[in-house]
Amino acid sequence: MNFYIMTLFPEMVMDGLNTSIIGRAVNKGLLSIEALNIRDYAFNKHHSVDDYPYGGGAGMLMQAEPVYQTYLAIREKATLPEGKRPRVIYLSPQGKPFNQKMAEDFAKEDELVLLCGHYEGIDERVLEEIVTDYVSAGDYVLTGGELPAMMIVDAVSRLIPGVLHNDVSAEFESFQDNLLEYPQYSRPEIWHDKQVPAILLSGHHANIEKWRREQSVIRTAKNRPDLIEKAKLTKEEQKLAEEIMLEATGQ
Ligand code: SAM
Repeated sequence: MNFYIMTLFPEMVMDGLNTSIIGRAVNKGLLSIEALNIRDYAFNKHHSVDDYPYGGGAGMLMQAEPVYQTYLAIREKATLPEGKRPRVIYLSPQGKPFNQKMAEDFAKEDELVLLCGHYEGIDERVLEEIVTDYVSAGDYVLTGGELPAMMIVDAVSRLIPGVLHNDVSAEFESFQDNLLEYPQYSRPEIWHDKQVPAILLSGHHANIEKWRREQSVIRTAKNRPDLIEKAKLTKEEQKLAEEIMLEATGQ
């Protein structure tokens, strides 16, 4: 998988992504990350990339042409079949909130382009021309798209085979099956007078799986009741979830 990040702050994304698991995956050649500075594609006297919005209003807007030229440079580099356009994700508070399902979908691509806005955003015309997906980090406004872009690269990368040491660790995690992950414990067996649940020390794998599944249902019902509606539950699990949700509403 090759990621291309269109940004005014390439060092910010590269410094953040060149560490730990993602950095190792890059070194192993499992993925590549290239941040292109949109300013390098501003072919005007002062390499300026922003201007006042027509119609007035606060702040500056990123102009269409430098963004478009950066996109064309990426198309030159990308190894896509003739005529195929890369998937371009514009990070925007107006996009669809990012989730694990989207990460799984993006992980199927060979090339992914992430476009980071700044100031008051980007001239609409270039967005219309190049963007395929509008994705938001959540219902709040950030100063730029760099942090959300890093978030997406991270979430997508760990789904690429070989990136995690143990591929099993991506097998059951929060949001798969619309359930949150069960609580986990490591050594020592007792910490601050808190004992690891006895079932986890029993060595009985079937019972451990049963306990974990139940804990996932309990956790999801408590913390994310909105997910429970979409989860595939047995009748017993459904009953358990409903009891917990009722308790939470104080009824
Ligand atoms: N004026 C824009 C609006 O109201 O929709 C917000 C612009 S914001 C200050 C500047 C840039 O930060 C955006 O172009 C976008 O790339 C990024 N950004 C801000 N909040 C974001 C969010 N919640 N998710 C993804 N990107 C965001």
